[in-house]
Amino acid sequence: MEIAIVGSGYVGLVAAAAFAEIGHQVICVDNDAAKVAALSRGESLIHERFLPELLARHRGQRLRFTTSIGEAVRASDVIFIAVGTPTDETGKADLSTVEQVVRAIARELRGATREKKIIVEKSTVPVGTSRWISRVMLEAGARTDLFDVVCNPEFLREGCAVTDFLYPHRIVAGGSAESCERLREIYAPIVDGSYAEREDAVPIPDGATTPASFIATSAESAEVIKNASNAFLAMKISFINAVANVCEAVGADVEQVREGVGSDARIGNEFLRPGLGYGGSCFPKDLVAFRSTAADAGYDFRLLEEVIRINAHQREMFLRKVHDALWTLKGKRLAVLGLAFKGGTDDVRESPAIAFIRMLLREGASVAAFDPAAAANARALFSKDEITICDDLYDTADSADALLILTDWEEFGQLDFDRLRAVMKQAVLIDGRNMYEPEFVVQAGFAYYSIGRASHPRAKAASEVDRAA
Ligand code: NAD
Repeated sequence: MEIAIVGSGYVGLVAAAAFAEIGHQVICVDNDAAKVAALSRGESLIHERFLPELLARHRGQRLRFTTSIGEAVRASDVIFIAVGTPTDETGKADLSTVEQVVRAIARELRGATREKKIIVEKSTVPVGTSRWISRVMLEAGARTDLFDVVCNPEFLREGCAVTDFLYPHRIVAGGSAESCERLREIYAPIVDGSYAEREDAVPIPDGATTPASFIATSAESAEVIKNASNAFLAMKISFINAVANVCEAVGADVEQVREGVGSDARIGNEFLRPGLGYGGSCFPKDLVAFRSTAADAGYDFRLLEEVIRINAHQREMFLRKVHDALWTLKGKRLAVLGLAFKGGTDDVRESPAIAFIRMLLREGASVAAFDPAAAANARALFSKDEITICDDLYDTADSADALLILTDWEEFGQLDFDRLRAVMKQAVLIDGRNMYEPEFVVQAGFAYYSIGRASHPRAKAASEVDRAA
């Protein structure tokens, strides 16, 4: 099928590459000319596993890029809208970009006599958006028999977006039976499992369920499914963070508790990792928007308010820990590992690491930070000289009073403690992502503070350090 994707960001670009991978002709649109030029030259622009390979495989063949929405609409049968839907000042989703795109599509369809086009709402939007899209299309002069609107929410996680897209748990389509059926055809190789059997397929990740189930619903239900899914996952994170705080207060170990709780299949252990709280471009905005949608409809969804409050409070709790370790922070030099909102991505939008660094700076500390992929994006968020962003992990630790882990990059779980101890002023590790067993860190000669577990303020003396650790 001929597919257009409007918006070449984290979702649009991954969707475009994946649709090309399963056999469609894809034209990807963005109004950022520099981005389109870079993508056309072969750059992937975002840090996402398997994306460079897929772009290289399909660019110029089944995948092309343009700034012209008209060209994309004319060339395709199905148009996915994957532009941003940030929160506005009132807490609602700002849908102005979605509306601009819809009007641009309508302009192209005005006077057209060709067969029907399907407009797919891929962006995360509040309930009722599908209806609004139809209304705006009609107002703008598109003929009712020449378009239909379907909601097809995206559930991918940054960091494993390509495999999440190609091996999803489920695909949800909300709209008329006929258009849902067209979507099922688009996703056929994923829904019938034939993609997974291809020799050159992107490898199936652990825990993937293939083939994916296909769930056809009303547009309203599909819109709620996306909002409710994100709210539930964020709630799990806030829940385990609240439990972590109880564990600390009563002398329990949250890592043991989460294993015991999460191994119950009714609960599941995903999104049950204590830490600095959730962040990123989705959960924070989607929760606020969902609460606002519920309020507009007359329901006071207070549970969501509490989820949001616990999330913000978690950073305060972690700051207390830094104080427990170092007392005052003014003039202290802190080494920070992690700037991205989670491991595996270069995305720093609403990153808890960035928010926490700002809290440290307000306390008068100086910060040197390292991130394997997000350094360039993070540099744009700080003024010159506000923090030092290093290209090498061990450079951050030079003369540091403590090392803080703020993002769960896998490589931060394999630190060379001898090397760190040799360059740091004080051997203190404050771990906001529970990347280590406390015993291991203490054996390596570090004081260790983590989430929901007893603190170990006294490191072993260098002479006692078990080199085997
Ligand atoms: P993004 O900011 O990375 O990408 C949006 C893209 O749209 C940008 O490249 C921007 O230049 C482009 N754009 C803006 N206005 C445009 C216009 N008028 N015409 C053409 N292009 C335009 O956003 P994202 O992270 O990809 O998110 C997109 C949507 O998907 C949001 O609604 C988000 O909530 C949802 N979503 C995101 C994720 C995620 O993990 N990032 C997961 C699921 C759903």
